[in-house]
Amino acid sequence: MRNKRKHLSLMMAIVLLFSNCQSGAKVISQKIEKPLNIILLIGDGMGLAQISAASFISGGLSLDLFVELGLLRTSSGNDYITDSAAGATAFSTGEKTFNGAIGVGMDTLSRQSILELAEQNGLSTGLISTCSVTHATPASFYAHQRNREMHREIANDFYGKGIDFMAGTGKPYFSIEKLLAGGYQISSGTIPSNADASKKQFCFFNDSIHPPKAAERGNWLEAITKQGMQHLSQNKKGFFLMVEGSQIDWGGHDTDFNYTVTELIDFDKAVKAAYEFAKKDGNTLVIVTADHETGGLSLDAGNLKKRTIQHHYASTHHSGIMVPVYAYGPGASMLKGTHENTEVFKAMKLLLGL
Ligand code: MG
Ligand code: ZN
Repeated sequence: MRNKRKHLSLMMAIVLLFSNCQSGAKVISQKIEKPLNIILLIGDGMGLAQISAASFISGGLSLDLFVELGLLRTSSGNDYITDSAAGATAFSTGEKTFNGAIGVGMDTLSRQSILELAEQNGLSTGLISTCSVTHATPASFYAHQRNREMHREIANDFYGKGIDFMAGTGKPYFSIEKLLAGGYQISSGTIPSNADASKKQFCFFNDSIHPPKAAERGNWLEAITKQGMQHLSQNKKGFFLMVEGSQIDWGGHDTDFNYTVTELIDFDKAVKAAYEFAKKDGNTLVIVTADHETGGLSLDAGNLKKRTIQHHYASTHHSGIMVPVYAYGPGASMLKGTHENTEVFKAMKLLLGL
């Protein structure tokens, strides 16, 4: 089977790239390598200032290893400043929608997500977040609701989707009976050591809705990301996995610099795990990006010896500054340049052949 995977990686996709020039749209034909698997890592609220600060303070991030980079415009369908629901829906469905929308368009009707397309085509799928799995970012990949606060309705959209690996908090929103009937092995607390590889996994970090901060989670995000990749890669048709560093955003809303930086450094460990998996595998595209920046963070001064930074936040809300998108693996070059956030969906769909 290993050879079959290798063979698939050598298949090339002919992609038409449209570039604007003064005489109108020009069509360029280019050969782009196709990945078998895509891991999309979303740092919620992770702008360049947040990355710069975490990289400087920690002495370097795994993100710094990526050489293919682009920028994304983050505006939603009805506001220059997006929220995480519209931001994630742009990634999951390729459409700009109104703030608060979960997997629905401007007309409030459902749009098929990249995860649903992957499931339909026989790929394995997974979602991991450091908050409730009914929260806006992960929810936008499997649910279709007009309001992000409808956690019970969002959870209800989960059943029957066939998602193979789930991890985060939010247990009170789910029916354990329904999950068991759906073939899930449910674990709570730490990383399941007795996971049945043949069963779909639902890993609740705790029994509550509320997730702890990075210090209390230990290396959970990194470890569960490794477990997720291992579980999903059993499917030789490929997989789609989304991993969210949810609380980088919350640090911004709280204007708590240490919170922001520690969450980003924790998220970067999951990035490292994905990068190393992709490097070894050769058939996996890793995309790391953000839905928006949070707090209008400014880095005003720093101490080179002590590796400390003086900063200030311009607000307690999201900002409109573009966010970086990093990519590694087959197809990574598609995300170079400046794009709308919806291009991430389009690239993933095309590269997975969905
Ligand atoms: Mg989020
Ligand atoms: Zn936010």
